Amino acid sequence: MLPDLQRILNSGQVTNNGPFVQQFETALTKHLGIPTIVFSSGMAALIAMLRAVDVARGQVLCPSFTFAATPHAIVLAGGTPVFADVDPENLSLCLDPQLFRNRYRYVKAVLAVDPYGICWDPPDWPYTIPILIDSAPSFGSDVRDLPPVDRAAAQIFSFHATKPFSTMEGGALCSRDEDLIRRAKVIRNFGQEADGDCAVVGFNGKMLEVCAAVGLRQLEDWGFRSHSRSWSASRLREGLRGIEGLRVQETPPGQRPVWVYLPVFIEPEFGKSRDDVVAELAGRGIQARIYYRACHELSCYAGNNVRFPVTERLAAQVISLSVYDNMTGDEIGYIAQAFREIRNG
Ligand SMILES: *Cc1c(COP(=O)(O)O)cnc(C)c1O
Repeated sequence: MLPDLQRILNSGQVTNNGPFVQQFETALTKHLGIPTIVFSSGMAALIAMLRAVDVARGQVLCPSFTFAATPHAIVLAGGTPVFADVDPENLSLCLDPQLFRNRYRYVKAVLAVDPYGICWDPPDWPYTIPILIDSAPSFGSDVRDLPPVDRAAAQIFSFHATKPFSTMEGGALCSRDEDLIRRAKVIRNFGQEADGDCAVVGFNGKMLEVCAAVGLRQLEDWGFRSHSRSWSASRLREGLRGIEGLRVQETPPGQRPVWVYLPVFIEPEFGKSRDDVVAELAGRGIQARIYYRACHELSCYAGNNVRFPVTERLAAQVISLSVYDNMTGDEIGYIAQAFREIRNG
């Protein structure tokens, strides 16, 4: 890594589509099997994707159970988020397919979310509007043996430091639609065309050379690391089984998630509130996050008077447990024991 950094600093080309960014885009395109371009963050990729399909002055359907960046990106791209509930049936934590079916005709685009490493499984039928996916946390996850990037018109990933595959800050956009990729590239660079004219309003969403160099290194052992992480998550899930009132998120059928966090849900039978459990875990040195929240309840989106029972229940019960590559049996045992003691204590 240090020689790469030295080379970048010596060359003077630290950004603006330099050789590392180009090499990283080529490597990701090959790895994912679909044209991919990179950004300064997942959020930048999200906004560019939404601007590239031109959602301005239109409504965009998205789940409420997601990170705030999802609806924020719609607003920053000039659209209006229309929230929907998540699927009550299989508890995939993804956009409810029935709501999607009923409502997609009335919106300009759909921005589905792949939460935690789980993939949204879209119903198969020909869509008349762009279906987009915020797959920020789910790089490397598979669904139905489909290349995970072939479910929608376009999809983005985040390479933020908190995500399993990281370039410190960074993101990517994938699409088979060459024109969409071309527009997103222009938007990423202030909207400037080759002749200097701006037909669309863009912003600065460019990835730094040093981030691309980190990404290239991460790709080298990603296969090993992503397996190790999936293995850690399945052992953590096994360790947490059989605790009354603690529901551990299952892997949806046909999927191979690379979990960023393993969500667990504190149900009434646990006998303690979710917030008390989080505080007691923190007291034992176990960092657990309250993530995601119900976005329709955030102050900036409240006032719509909408209710989403599944989202509200999940957001009130969820605890996101960190998953690492190479979690040891002792670490997993300690976490599982903590939940047992907190429940009985
Ligand atoms: C992490 C995340 C983002 C934001 O990605 P950044 O790279 O941090 O900008 C957006 N959406 C979801 C669902 C995320 O989990």
